[in-house]
Amino acid sequence: MAGMATKTTDEGSTGGALTRTSDRAPSSWGLGDGQAIPWDYAPAPESRDVVRLKERYGLFINGREVSSGDGEVFTSVNPATEEPLAMVARATPADIDKAVRAARTAQKRRWGSLPGKERAKYLFRIARILQERSREFAVLESMDSGKPIKESRDVDVPLAAAHFWYYAGWADKLEYAFPGRVAKPLGVAGQIIPWNFPLLMLAWKIAPALAAGNTVVLKPASTTPLSALLFADVCRQADLPPGVVNIVPGPGEIGMALVTHPGVDKVAFTGSTEIGKKIYKGVAGTDKGLTLELGGKAANIVFDDAPLDQAVEGIVNGIYFNQGEVCCAGSRLLAQESIVEPLIEKLKDRLATIRVGDPLDKNTDVGAINSRAQLEKITELVAAGRAEGAEMYQPACDLPDRGYFFRPTLFTNVAQSSRIAREEIFGPVLSVLTFRTPEEAVEKANNTPYGLSAGIWTDKGSRILHMVKRMKAGVVWANTFNRFDPTSPFGGYKESGFGREGGMHGLHAYVRLEDR
Ligand code: NDP
Repeated sequence: MAGMATKTTDEGSTGGALTRTSDRAPSSWGLGDGQAIPWDYAPAPESRDVVRLKERYGLFINGREVSSGDGEVFTSVNPATEEPLAMVARATPADIDKAVRAARTAQKRRWGSLPGKERAKYLFRIARILQERSREFAVLESMDSGKPIKESRDVDVPLAAAHFWYYAGWADKLEYAFPGRVAKPLGVAGQIIPWNFPLLMLAWKIAPALAAGNTVVLKPASTTPLSALLFADVCRQADLPPGVVNIVPGPGEIGMALVTHPGVDKVAFTGSTEIGKKIYKGVAGTDKGLTLELGGKAANIVFDDAPLDQAVEGIVNGIYFNQGEVCCAGSRLLAQESIVEPLIEKLKDRLATIRVGDPLDKNTDVGAINSRAQLEKITELVAAGRAEGAEMYQPACDLPDRGYFFRPTLFTNVAQSSRIAREEIFGPVLSVLTFRTPEEAVEKANNTPYGLSAGIWTDKGSRILHMVKRMKAGVVWANTFNRFDPTSPFGGYKESGFGREGGMHGLHAYVRLEDR
């Protein structure tokens, strides 16, 4: 199919690992005399032994693992091999009711009235256990989601632990976060998370909720439930009182049953704009709190005075990190016309060095796409880009024989009206557009229904400030991209949602402020 990477097996490939041959110029060391020595990456697989997968996982309700009301299960699949990993209980509306009641009881009887410094101790304990079990979490996350081990190991898991450390620090300091006001917990939070950063999104949602004295019922995405269920084990290990955290895997309807449950006081959702709108309707007419972190189509803007090599690294990180399955991905490159040619040349050279393949190999840069459905969506949009006249470039790299893989893709000659310039692809696909003046860059960057993030690459501090003020985006990175920190608020405008997660702002969504 057009745009979809064909799977080829070079003679030189070993054990499914990628092998580069001498015709791929960047994979060689120049000797300075015009000669180059071709070199290969040896496979560097992370061991799966650290993960003890159970054949079957239950729901986590009131501190115990239980079967679903009707005994139904679904299978979680490894997207890199298409092999089933485990069977997972599929919650029913009656299970949601049980989980919400357990959360309510725990909030009323124990958690909501516990002094902040006592809640903090549990959060610190969870953070420490996440760090102690970080390898186990990283390997499991890569197996279940397809993301490269170097990202789950170096980004997802450490950041998840960092969120618990950070919000543990706030638990006994709420009066400083909201001076002059008394911060009261909302009650029970119903939280729905996506599949692109399963553990990290869990941490973004659970840590501030618990710090502020709320209890939670969380529904993970159906393609990636396993790290949330391993987190249930962390809650038990940390002796968290039963009912404070409840985990209920299940399909979208179960998410909606949680959203509309009358015992839920606050809903937090990260996922697509389409489902975000349904959730908005689901809470309309109630007094439930709501935060929505939705899609994006971020502009990564490179001015002619930017250090190009550094910008290339930022562009690559912006769109190929986590296979581009990132809501704030820099999926539209806006390059100033005078430097577009050298920039694209450097980008193509860099793309040729990206290693696509086994997520558990420590050398892998781009792992597996999360699901067959997502791979089909990417393939369809890439085909649309070509049909609309954009020029496609993909580096020559082998893809594993099985699994959902897609080559890093670059489109030039992209019209503003093209689908690949307007729609969230959520895959390793970059659309390049050009501009002449800063005003044109602002106009094009903001010409999207989304408003989650943006990137600016320039040598001039004054230009950064000029541009940042004009970007309709919740997060703007300058001379970097995709940097996250628990102290920093994150969230969008327009169809990217509302509310902020992270930082002091993230606490705000989980409290009711009263006068002293
Ligand atoms: P969804 O928005 O459907 O999924 C996100 C979460 O919402 C999952 O837990 C999902 O459950 C749940 N959900 C689905 N339907 C409902 C519903 N009616 N009510 C309540 N919860 C629901 O994203 P998809 O997985 O379908 O991905 C589709 C597209 O969305 C992607 O291609 C990408 O463009 C975008 N996306 C954006 C994300 C972001 O972070 N901004 C994250 C994920 C996707 P289940 O998994 O069981 O369907």
